[in-house]
Amino acid sequence: MYEQTFLVKNLKDIGVQTGDILVITCSLSEVGRLEFGFETLVNALIESVGETGGILGLSFNYGQKLPIASNSNADIFSRNLKPSTGGLNEFLVEHPLSIRSGHPMNSFVGIGECIRNLLVSHTPSSPCYDPVHKLAINNSGKMLLIGTLSKSPGITTVHVAQNLLGFKNLDQGRYGVQYYNDKGGIETYIRNDVGGCSIGFHNFYHHYRDDFNFKIMKIGDADSVLVNLHDALNTDLRVLQKNPEMFFCGRESCTKCRIDFWDFSSSLVPASI
Ligand SMILES: [Zn+2]
Repeated sequence: MYEQTFLVKNLKDIGVQTGDILVITCSLSEVGRLEFGFETLVNALIESVGETGGILGLSFNYGQKLPIASNSNADIFSRNLKPSTGGLNEFLVEHPLSIRSGHPMNSFVGIGECIRNLLVSHTPSSPCYDPVHKLAINNSGKMLLIGTLSKSPGITTVHVAQNLLGFKNLDQGRYGVQYYNDKGGIETYIRNDVGGCSIGFHNFYHHYRDDFNFKIMKIGDADSVLVNLHDALNTDLRVLQKNPEMFFCGRESCTKCRIDFWDFSSSLVPASI
């Protein structure tokens, strides 16, 4: 059974510092038994970044094919809608101190005063991955993967890079969700950014290893990595400009990681942070 103090030591060893802003994915079952489950982990994260830092989760929700039928039972996005992205995000959405952005499909949820503006400004008219892009531009954020390296290995900067490079795919403009606007009315959000399958994002790991300090360490029992978002985005842009297919997962069942699903004709346009 791991206690908070043990996890704080693990987090320090992997490189988390006071004042850090962490974008986190986590598979709790990989961490091992914790005294109070997610509460122990989140308290350890908050203690590690301190009052000047912040923690963020990807509280995304699935989109529906457009147009959404008038008799659809699909969920309408609001601040309290349960995210589709698992336990940590569900815990953060319900946390009394958390702030959740208003982006209907790719909302971020977090704790910390320093991330308030980042989340308040992430609205239905923002790019999906805008908080990660801003943290990368300002060199003020890191991504922490706790036990997700095999099932969900993605550093989210790859999606930022796909959009900065102007990649297109067949899903653009075809999916969306309904959401409540500020006045309580229902509007439809149409997703025009690209994203999707991130199972192949481990293909970037050896480039990260070449470019900066990228090493797998343990948090509890979970294999974990901590990556500076600015460094990761620089690597992603360079790698994708050379080989736009780098993120393909290679699974035969995947309908998204195929050359006929994507248009990379814009990828030779120079792009940088
Ligand atoms: Zn795939």
